[in-house]
Amino acid sequence: MVRERQLQNFDELVLAARASRTRAYAPYSNYAVGAAVLGSDGEIYKGCNVENASFGLTICAERNAIAAMVAAGCTSARAVVVVTSDAGTPCGACRQVLAEFSGPNAPVVCIGEGSEQHFTVGELLPSSFKFQ
Ligand SMILES: [Zn+2]
Repeated sequence: MVRERQLQNFDELVLAARASRTRAYAPYSNYAVGAAVLGSDGEIYKGCNVENASFGLTICAERNAIAAMVAAGCTSARAVVVVTSDAGTPCGACRQVLAEFSGPNAPVVCIGEGSEQHFTVGELLPSSFKFQ
């Protein structure tokens, strides 16, 4: 029963990430990214990449999804799905943000067109920065 519920959540997470990817604003790279985060509150939070002519202001889909979760009052993610054309993995900045708002065992699934990669947050960033 718990596994069925997890699978249902996973399917919903993938659908949310795919839907979010269609909203990506990526006129410079043409690399559309959609992300969805399952919060510890059971809600799904979505994000897409939002580029800017001043490239340094671009914000990744993963960080936008986490920001939406935090803005809704939830500060812990159980799972993350990222959808791109090539199953690309989160950048270094996003890995640090994922580490801030999830445990090291939280799954991160990167889905492309015909391929996917499975990680945990701890695998993606084994020695994350921690403020002491
Ligand atoms: Zn990123």
